[in-house]
Amino acid sequence: MDKISTKRIKVTSECNQDCIFCDSNVGSDPALYSMRRVESQILERNGLTRLNITGGEPTICSNLGEYIKLAKKAGYRDIAMLTNGNRFSEKKYASQIKKSGLTEAIISVYHYDSGISDALSKVKGSFQQKLKGIDNLINLGIEVTVNIVIFSGNYKAIPKLVRFLHSTFGIKLFAFSFLEPNCSKVAAKPDLIPDLEKSMAYLAKAAEYCKKNKLKYFIPYNGAIPPCIFKINKLKTIKPEKIAGTDFDSSRHYYSVCRNCADRKYCSGILKEYSAECLDILRSKRTK
Ligand code: SF4
Repeated sequence: MDKISTKRIKVTSECNQDCIFCDSNVGSDPALYSMRRVESQILERNGLTRLNITGGEPTICSNLGEYIKLAKKAGYRDIAMLTNGNRFSEKKYASQIKKSGLTEAIISVYHYDSGISDALSKVKGSFQQKLKGIDNLINLGIEVTVNIVIFSGNYKAIPKLVRFLHSTFGIKLFAFSFLEPNCSKVAAKPDLIPDLEKSMAYLAKAAEYCKKNKLKYFIPYNGAIPPCIFKINKLKTIKPEKIAGTDFDSSRHYYSVCRNCADRKYCSGILKEYSAECLDILRSKRTK
């Protein structure tokens, strides 16, 4: 059950967007992403068959195609990438990356409104690029999963966003990820952190739409919010898995509510930025 199933690597910390809640561009050390280092991480496969390439934004890494080819040669069967999708609006680039061996793109989407979306990414035109990118990838036969990052400015839009992506592109798999608050931009603007109780209600509506239309969704088990909060709200998290090479840090803690929890073996704990709300929910609803 706790077998490691996915290898995750970062190929850059830089990005072609400047999203209001991400500090990936801040203070990166290029030595961490030297070709030699990344290649040796890819080759340390240890029998794993799925690779997840992350950043920063992987498509701004000029060696990306070579890394994907190397991963394919090294024996990874599924090669996925977490991306904002903008560069895939160039058909030629999308096709090159497909030829290198990419099998799945996990594209982060924040909103269905282009003005709001561009304001969040701080790049004018990025929403239209993303949509074109999704279209190009689907036409090339690359599996597209949409990752919806939930924060205070979009949780009410989640059900409509899911409907929009399903009806426009036939997207069948969604990931719902709560904002990771442990970055300097969120620390400076804590009102970006969503209200958990209210967000859960909108998320439940989106999950209901998925169920009705036979779409799949998943909520990362060890994302920003621990599985107990979703369970209380009757939302399923994906089965526990361990990921090699993750950058989970030490800002997660267990509390007294965790003492007899059946999930503790897999759960990474509660992030301090969400702890007050999580503990309120756990203490009030578990005793009902
Ligand atoms: S260990 Fe704690 S935070 Fe994790 S699921 Fe259990 S109660 Fe929730």
